[in-house]
Parts: sequence; C-alpha cells; structure tokens
Amino acid sequence: MKTAVVTGGASGIGLGIVERLRADGLNVATLDLNPSAEDDFAYQVDVTKPDEIAEALTDVRTKLGPITVLVNAAGIEKYRRFHNLTFEEWQRIIDVNLHGVFHTVQAVLPDMTAANWGRIVNISSSSTHSGQPFMAAYVAAKSGLNGLTKSLALELGPYGITVNAVPPGFIDTPMLRRSEEKQLLGGTIEEHIQRTPVRRVGRPADIAAACSFLISEDAGYITGQILGVNGGRNT
Ligand code: NAP
Repeated sequence: MKTAVVTGGASGIGLGIVERLRADGLNVATLDLNPSAEDDFAYQVDVTKPDEIAEALTDVRTKLGPITVLVNAAGIEKYRRFHNLTFEEWQRIIDVNLHGVFHTVQAVLPDMTAANWGRIVNISSSSTHSGQPFMAAYVAAKSGLNGLTKSLALELGPYGITVNAVPPGFIDTPMLRRSEEKQLLGGTIEEHIQRTPVRRVGRPADIAAACSFLISEDAGYITGQILGVNGGRNT
C-alpha cells in the first residue's frame, strides 16, 4: 500500500484529494495549520517550517511507511493593489505557496529516490495562465510553482519520480466562498458559472480526479505537465 502526504488536506481541494486517494487505496497523511481532530493521520504543520515538516514525516514513516506520493495543496491568497502590497505580505505569500513546496519536496525526496518511484503533484492556479489584477504575489508564487514543477520533472525523471502541476480554476471551496463574500471575484459565483463553458462551478473532486490519475501507474510517462482543470475557463 502506497503512502501519500497531502498538504492543506484539512479543507477544500486538499480535503477532496485526501478523500479520493483514500478511496483509491492509499494511506494518506495530511499536513495543515488546523488539522481535523477526527483524522489519526492529520498533523499540525506550517509548511513554511521545515522542522515541523520533518517531525511530522518521521511519525508518518513510522506508522505508514515510506512516503512516495506528495500532493502540495496548501496555499493562501491575498488580494491587494500592488501599490499597497507590503514586502511582508509579498513574502508570506511566496513563503507558503512556493517555499512550502521546496521544503516538502526536499523532505520526501529520500523516500522516493530509495524506492526509485515517486509522484509529486503541485496545485498551482489558473491565474497563472493570464495573470490576475490585485494578486501579483499569488500569481508570481504559483507561476514559480509551475516552473519548479517543470524543472523538477527533468531532474527527478531518472529516479522514477514524476512531477506535474494541476492549476485549478474556480473551485467551490472555503477560499472561493471567502473571496465571493468580500466581493473580490468580479461578480457572484452564479454569474461566473454563466461565463464558464461547462456551466458549473468546479468541485474539489474534479481536482482530486486529476491528481488520482497523475499519481497512478498509468501516468508514469506523464511528467513536467501543467494540467488545467477549470471547466474551459482557460484553454
Ligand atoms: P482552502 O479551502 O483555504 O484550503 C487551503 C488549506 O491550506 C487550508 O486548510 C489552510 O489552512 C491550509 N494552509 C494555508 N497555509 C498553510 C500553511 N502555511 N501550512 C499548512 N497548511 C496551510 O483553499 P482551496 O481553495 O482548497 O485551495 C487549495 C489550493 O488550491 C491552494 O493552493 C490554492 O491556492 C489553490 N487554488 C484554489 C482555487 C479555487 O478556485 N478554490 C483556484 C486556484 C488555485 P487554514 O484554513 O487553517 O488557513
């Protein structure tokens, strides 16, 4: 039985991925700021803190064995006019969305190279297709994540490790609902649905299905790819 670690697994897209991978038969541990108390394999970890990651993963290895699947879904966003964006705000967004992935990948690499098999999926963002006003730090971080994905795919392919990114677009999660409440979406979710070719909002399960495939044996020849899951909003 393979063991996966999903960051941001307590909410939204990450939670959908956890449920799907468990249904697929994987052992799954989650790293999150506010882990579910009902989940025996949910660890309280800030992905910007390598010591916290290391401590949690040591426990995961003891209980579930080597970690050969990693999904990076933890993320935060910030809407702020660039004129008013402070360097501290910029830094925190880059820290969580990009540096967090540096830390988790480094932490699991020894397991994957030892197994000569691994799967890494990075959840980036459809905003990287076109840019997004008032989200410069977030789009910069997520674009960095797409670039990291491509470079790691080239470096890690010889070790049997694939690395892909899934940039979601318009997925119904607490993050999206918060943005709607603060009127930051440029319209309601309902209005956006009418502008979405498949005429519905995305679900965490849509992103989870893509991850499930990319993690499967069948996807072993797919690496360095950015697989958009966005209902046709970005092509
Ligand atoms: P969400 O519901 O807010 O889930 C994000 C999770 O990440 C939360 O559980 C959050 O914990 C956790 N997290 C935040 N900072 C963390 C840290 N430093 N260390 C560990 N965990 C941390 O958001 P979501 O919509 O599911 O987003 C999941 C991913 O998809 C994110 O990377 C996001 O950027 C990306 N995404 C989402 C959409 C969309 O339409 N929803 C679109 C594009 C990209 P707390 O809640 O406790 O802060």
